[in-house]
Amino acid sequence: MNINEEKVLELFEETNALLNGHFLLTSGRHSNQYFQCALVLQYPEYNTLICSLIAEYFKTYEIDYVISPAIGGIVVGQEVARQLGKKSIFAEREDKTLTLRRGFQIEPGKKYLVCEDVVTTGGSVFEVIEIVKKGGGIVTGVGFIVDRSNNKVKFDVPQFSTLQLEVVSYNPDECPLCKQNIPAIKPGSRKI
Ligand SMILES: [Zn+2]
Repeated sequence: MNINEEKVLELFEETNALLNGHFLLTSGRHSNQYFQCALVLQYPEYNTLICSLIAEYFKTYEIDYVISPAIGGIVVGQEVARQLGKKSIFAEREDKTLTLRRGFQIEPGKKYLVCEDVVTTGGSVFEVIEIVKKGGGIVTGVGFIVDRSNNKVKFDVPQFSTLQLEVVSYNPDECPLCKQNIPAIKPGSRKI
């Protein structure tokens, strides 16, 4: 199947990974959208399809390893690495800091593609980039599924996302959906 940004968006909607309505976010803010990337990636065939866009984008780049931040990035990194025929490692949180465990190491001089599911502030990706640099590796690029940074996050290396999703959220006092008396829903609290 051929895939493009429009199709990625369709898959998100079809799997309820992206819902339109009036939602209470965990931050306490309100939004017209609910978004949970894991809901689309629970279908391995969709993960394969979406990750093929990332693999396609970086296929001409020199890459030795794919590296991802746990947890969300692992599924993406593993699949992109499989399609590119490269190794896949991940960093995980230990005392709030991303660290390489399980015997994973950065090989000096080797090239790393960083993969992630969702980028909002880019914090985890920046941490992984630091891990690679500290170990003497080279970051070739960053590939991720959804850019929720409103195009603001720049990693200073080639970056590619399969979908841009603008985050719209409101202070409850200023929420236009509340003003229309539309009941707000806590995501996951009702069957859709
Ligand atoms: Zn509201």
